[in-house]
Amino acid sequence: MFNLPEDPIHLGVLIKFEHLKGTVFHGQTEIKGKKGSGVFLLPDEYVPAEHILHDLIRGFYKPKGKPYMLSYQATESDKNYGKQIQWEDPSLQEFKLIRMSPPTGEKDNRAKSDIAAARYNLEHKLPIGILHKVSKGVNRCLGLGIIIEETVEGIFIVRPVSMSNSINGKQRNIQQIEDLSHITETEKDAVIKSRVGQSRFKENLLQNDPQCKLCGLGIKELLIASHIKPWSRSDSKERLDFYNGFLFCPTHDALFDKGFISFRDDGSIMISDALDEKTMDILHIFQNSKIEVLDEHRKYLRWHRVNKLIKSTNPTKY
Ligand SMILES: [Zn+2]
Repeated sequence: MFNLPEDPIHLGVLIKFEHLKGTVFHGQTEIKGKKGSGVFLLPDEYVPAEHILHDLIRGFYKPKGKPYMLSYQATESDKNYGKQIQWEDPSLQEFKLIRMSPPTGEKDNRAKSDIAAARYNLEHKLPIGILHKVSKGVNRCLGLGIIIEETVEGIFIVRPVSMSNSINGKQRNIQQIEDLSHITETEKDAVIKSRVGQSRFKENLLQNDPQCKLCGLGIKELLIASHIKPWSRSDSKERLDFYNGFLFCPTHDALFDKGFISFRDDGSIMISDALDEKTMDILHIFQNSKIEVLDEHRKYLRWHRVNKLIKSTNPTKY
């Protein structure tokens, strides 16, 4: 069905894409490192060296000097290639098919190497990581895809793949993981558990109360299941803990994730001084907002208040 690369960095990035499926990235820091710093992402539990997930310059990302394509960013923008993604279930971020058009501009001499790289992946059955550009500066990880065909028009057709699941996401198929003969049993186990767990994490939140915790927006496709204590900072138990999550609309998710708002133990909102009155109005943030907080949420919220909330310069505010 597909092959995995020998190169531990390449393999690690693909495993990372698989693990981060459903994660929303605000800005570029978690995708290619801090802007202007010249520093890539540091080694982590997936990738044993500095790396990036995508360069965010154009759709195709081929690492310099490598023959293969590492990842793809689908923009869904009319300015680029229009609607590229067919969804299986947008609320669970499961895509059915992506039509990947390489750059065609005559001046764009990178197009040739992009096409060559995509063909390399097609020939060697090497998966690619998939990002979906949701809006400016906001990308969501859609997991892994595999190029199954290059059409006569030169469009590459991508289907989803997973190291632990079947294409349909819900129909778990452990078969594929059996093929990963060169990774250890423990690693296989971790891949399966994590993938199943993350999908269940959002499903549980949706089933419990399918609306934005703060404003009540109830369109499933727009809701984001976000960890209170971030996934990257949580241990394996915390990552799957239902109480370490809130559902938010994209705006409120971004505000919470970036630390512009947090919540006290009684659920009343804390608003960073970085937001002025006018901005609060625009974003529908109100001083008297309150959410329901259960005892089990409190240790995570405490972490969020201490580590995430952009600190006030005016001590009386809190
Ligand atoms: Zn909201």
